[in-house]
Amino acid sequence: MAVIDLRSDTVTQPSAGMRDAMASAPLGDDVYGEDPTVNRLESWLAEHLGFAAALFVPTGTMSNLLGLMAHCERGDEYIVGQQAHTYKYEGGGAAVLGSIQPQPLDNQADGSLDLEQVAAAIKADDFHFARTRLLALENTMHGKVLPLEYLAAARALTRERGLNLHLDGARLYNASVKLGVDAREITSHFDSVSVCLSKGLGAPVGSVLCGSDAFIGKARRLRKMVGGGMRQAGLLAAAGLYALEHQVQRLSEDHANAAALGQALAELGFDVEPVQTNMVYVQLGDRAQSLKALCAERGIVLSAAPRLRMVTHMDVTSAHLDQVVSAFAEFGVR
Ligand SMILES: *Cc1c(COP(=O)(O)O)cnc(C)c1O
Repeated sequence: MAVIDLRSDTVTQPSAGMRDAMASAPLGDDVYGEDPTVNRLESWLAEHLGFAAALFVPTGTMSNLLGLMAHCERGDEYIVGQQAHTYKYEGGGAAVLGSIQPQPLDNQADGSLDLEQVAAAIKADDFHFARTRLLALENTMHGKVLPLEYLAAARALTRERGLNLHLDGARLYNASVKLGVDAREITSHFDSVSVCLSKGLGAPVGSVLCGSDAFIGKARRLRKMVGGGMRQAGLLAAAGLYALEHQVQRLSEDHANAAALGQALAELGFDVEPVQTNMVYVQLGDRAQSLKALCAERGIVLSAAPRLRMVTHMDVTSAHLDQVVSAFAEFGVR
């Protein structure tokens, strides 16, 4: 029985073309800066996203951590969403390893942070307070795309108040494909951006942090410190380059699949949140566990959360989703 895994877009298998690209990639020792494929990936993304430099790292968690630590010193503070990955899902790394204090604010329904609340949370220059240095946003946020005008307003506020602006762009390309704009139109508002290659783009491993030369120089030192300096890493970077060159525009298929799934479940009477990109959220309350069990018997892998998240990706077809809709129909609304 084919397994249909909707838990995340991290579960994809490398495509045949990607495996070929990995097998034939020229390699060197990246800690010496000598891996031509890593160097090509870093310069490709820096150029495409409009930054002076970039750094290849094993995970998005490390990329965000290095970004936060390169922007903030001990005793500094960053403003971040309560639901943001950097705050909630990265083991508190910025606080544990960077001595950086988070100032979390509630996310708005559209995934943004209210900029009046952000402005009010910026601390005065007073030795009682941590030094507020950075605002970190996430895009997409739970599958929602932050509007470009919002990004421009966040840029204006942070510039006026002397803060840096970081983007956790794990799913940056889902946002750009959804908006139909070049990714650079999003990233141009930020001082630094972290992009995941191992989500919807379909690479097995890897993220890239982008920023100024000085910022990436600092992040490169920190990457060595936390054990992220890899050797013939071009084997992995080749997968990322292949993803960027061949698997970006197809994200629109994931978005169309998610929209169709959301609509079909809503027609069955399920409480489905509006779908923007590749995530479908359904309110299941205390029935999540039993739905998960029923789907497991039909080769469908789900998480078991009261607010169930289903994520479409390149290994999920519309035929698979017909099977998912059938399973939901069988389960029924109470
Ligand atoms: C997946 C993800 C990350 C990084 O995750 P890793 O598993 O460490 O690569 C960061 N931010 C967001 C929003 C993510 O979804």
